[in-house]
Amino acid sequence: MNKIDILIKNGIVVTMDSRETVIKNGAVAISGDRIADIGPNEKFSDCRAAKVIDAKNGIIMPGLINTHTHASMTCFRGLADDLHLMTWLNDYIFPAEAKLNYDKVKTGALLACAEMILSGTTCFADMYLFEDAVAEAAKAAGMRAVVGEVLYDFPSPSYGPIEEGFVYTENLIKKWQNDPLITVAVEPHSPYLCAPELLERAAGLSKAYDVPLIIHVAETQTEVDTIFERYGKTPIAHLADIGVLSSLLLACHCVALTDKDIEQLASYDVKVSHNPESNMKLASGIAPIPQLMDAGVCVGLGTDGCTSNNNIDMFLEMDTAAKIHKVNTLDPTVMDAKTVLKMATIDAAKALGLDHETGSLEPGKKADVIVIGTNKPHLTPMYNLHSHLVYAAGGNDVDTSIINGQVIMENRQVKTMDIAKVMADVNQIAKEISS
Ligand SMILES: [Zn+2]
Repeated sequence: MNKIDILIKNGIVVTMDSRETVIKNGAVAISGDRIADIGPNEKFSDCRAAKVIDAKNGIIMPGLINTHTHASMTCFRGLADDLHLMTWLNDYIFPAEAKLNYDKVKTGALLACAEMILSGTTCFADMYLFEDAVAEAAKAAGMRAVVGEVLYDFPSPSYGPIEEGFVYTENLIKKWQNDPLITVAVEPHSPYLCAPELLERAAGLSKAYDVPLIIHVAETQTEVDTIFERYGKTPIAHLADIGVLSSLLLACHCVALTDKDIEQLASYDVKVSHNPESNMKLASGIAPIPQLMDAGVCVGLGTDGCTSNNNIDMFLEMDTAAKIHKVNTLDPTVMDAKTVLKMATIDAAKALGLDHETGSLEPGKKADVIVIGTNKPHLTPMYNLHSHLVYAAGGNDVDTSIINGQVIMENRQVKTMDIAKVMADVNQIAKEISS
């Protein structure tokens, strides 16, 4: 066996591999940035690791993956609630975002990284302005991230005219190529804020560099009506006709879909990001996730930004995702805990094109691992692991987080940043935003 840097032992290893392997009294050995081996504790009894983490009979599992967020919106959490999407966006969020700059976006993203690390997320996909600042924040926090500068028809507070947006995106791709933590995506906002030419060009750029293309689409019935008025078709049919649908596309929300839309998403192997809490808070509706999955579409879970949620805790999102489809269909079997857990781990990794590296615990994959303490009243007894993780455990139960082989949090102490300082900095930004 290779030299072992970290051995996590005495845990129930929930691998989320294709065989859904669970190892009781198991251990995970990490060498450098990768998982070297997984097995029962006895297998590692002679192993001398540089660092040993005792899971104390808790759960060792892959870190959670948030497939859609706007990390720096932590700066605006609670600024504007209980409003319609378009009022919320046009009257509150866009004016507040006009006051942002590189430093503010970086500070907000650092706060988001703290919240995500503390609640078991090891990888997130982000869409925002000044996105290089988000990449730098994720890198400083030690998190894996897929980042992309938001592109739309009107001038951006970050890059100015759209022409510069494409330059910005291409520079971002070049800057972060081969980075072990950061992947850059091309991210046009939505079919209603992006002209067909912009969308075609974005899709072309994503294909040229073989990087993900991420967009909000079919978020509300209002959007569907707007697109129908403009182009005489649904948003998905519109994207299909201009060549935007492909296996590189991650379509966020997908609430208002027709049966034909679902067929098209499946036939192009488009991935979907499911954001149930945001869809509930903005009263957008309920995405037809069971139908999408029946059609064979890969669905990853996401929180969306914390102004429409208002947290970025994937444990809460899993709980909601498991329940919302039950009440919607009056069928408690329609979305089980294991399916939701896949949506937050291996299927989320697939949705971002990262499943060869992360999303499950398997030898050779990057070591993105969390340890959950289970010796607690609300997790006692434990009949069913998957059920506990989705319905009973919370972000606060995550004790340890390892990302890319680095211990980022141990015993709930985040090692990569001064959280008190980050909170003070965000409070200062809030003062400027509200003045
Ligand atoms: Zn969003």
